[in-house]
Order: sequence, then C-alpha cells, then structure tokens
Amino acid sequence: CGIVGYVGKRNALEVLLNGLQKLEYRGYDSAGVAVFTEVGLQIRKSKGRLASLESKLREQPLQGNIGMGHTRWATHGKPSDVNSHPHTDNSSKFSVVHNGIIENYSTLKEELVRQGHIFVSETDTEVISHLIASLYVGDIVKTVQQAVKRMKGAFALGVLTEYEPDKLVAVRMASPLIVGIGEGENFIGSDIPALLEHTRDIYVLHDGEMAVLTDRAVELMTVEGQSIARDVLHVDWDI
Ligand code: GLU
Repeated sequence: CGIVGYVGKRNALEVLLNGLQKLEYRGYDSAGVAVFTEVGLQIRKSKGRLASLESKLREQPLQGNIGMGHTRWATHGKPSDVNSHPHTDNSSKFSVVHNGIIENYSTLKEELVRQGHIFVSETDTEVISHLIASLYVGDIVKTVQQAVKRMKGAFALGVLTEYEPDKLVAVRMASPLIVGIGEGENFIGSDIPALLEHTRDIYVLHDGEMAVLTDRAVELMTVEGQSIARDVLHVDWDI
C-alpha cells in the first residue's frame, strides 16, 4: 500500500517512520521496516498500527543510514506479523517491499519451492525476494531486471541487498512510485506527501521504469536497462 525508502547519512529509521506516518491516510493493516545495521540487513514488522511497530522498535532498535518501510493492505494472506513487509529470502541477504499484486505468484512459488526455497508467509510478495535471491550473480540491478521479466501484475518495489549495501533499487510497474532528490541523500516514496518534509525535487517514475539510488546519485532506466533522462519536478505545494 505505502512505500518509503532512504539512502543517506541520517538515522534512516526516523525518515522511514515519518514517511510511513504521512502515508497512513491510505489505510493499512500492518507496517514494517528494513535497515542496514552494523550486523547486516535487519527487519522489524508488525500487524496493526504504526504504534505497534514503533513499540517493537523501542525494544529492538535499528541503527543505520539506509532502509525502507512499508504499510500493507493485504491482498494475499491475512494481516499478520509474518505476512507484513519487508519480505526476505532464506539467506536473509535480500529484502523487498511491494505494493500491488503479483498475478503469477503461485507458478513462481512452485518453481522456487522445487529449487529448495522455503517460504514462511502466505503473500504473493515473498516470491519476489526468493526469485531475486535465486537469480543473483553479483549485480542487483541486472537481477531485478531479470526478476521483473518473470513477474506479471501491478507492482511498485523497493529492493535492498546486503551484497551491495550502498544501493536502493526501485521499480514501478502499474503502481505509483517517485524518487526524491536530496543533497547527499535520496528517497523513494509511493506518493509525494511521504517525502515533502525532506525534499521538493522529485523524479516521477513511469510504468516499466526503475531507479537505482545511492547517497550521491540517482540513476533512472527502463526495466530493460536503457538509461533515461527525466526533468526534475519541483513541488511547490504543501500538504
Ligand atoms: N499483495 C501484497 C500483499 O498482500 C501487497 C499489498 C499492498 O499493496 O500493500 O502483501
């Protein structure tokens, strides 16, 4: 339902929770975050209001400068802690947040289960993290492009991997996603209000496009890998 992502020098968690709050108006049944910490890619997620995620985070804090958050509106699998996003794979090296529906998830899931992947949730989304893990050979951008070719449906994605911890990869396919441009920091969001407190300079992604963010740069390309030049949209309105 809602996505927010951050790459920069600040405490990622603050930016993510603030962004998720701004997305609450869309409605949701669960929320979660993934942050790169000293001990790797860590996930906290919880059924219910943001407040229950926040109380979990008070008990088990996350400190890091790169991360992504999600508010879920369940389509496949009941609202529960384990069905909340972010989702990961069996190596816990990849993390995915997803808005929308993967229509062919059961076919993909059967294939991945045959390869030995063990699924823990009932969601369509979990196939994405396993699919990416199964295709990965050292380049997360190319891997996401290959994974997207196999996926049918509507989706906006945020992807992180411990193997390339400086990058946040985002994809838009029939579900809205924007990139926020900062100084020494960059953002993704499923809509503008999630980012307005931090930046007013936006790239609007179109269907079939993706973005690769580091703290210093944003690269836009099609999911086929063709690079894109896009004008910056300067937002001069307030919420
Ligand atoms: N289809 C996914 C799920 O049920 C994502 C739903 C959403 O957009 O929040 O987990």
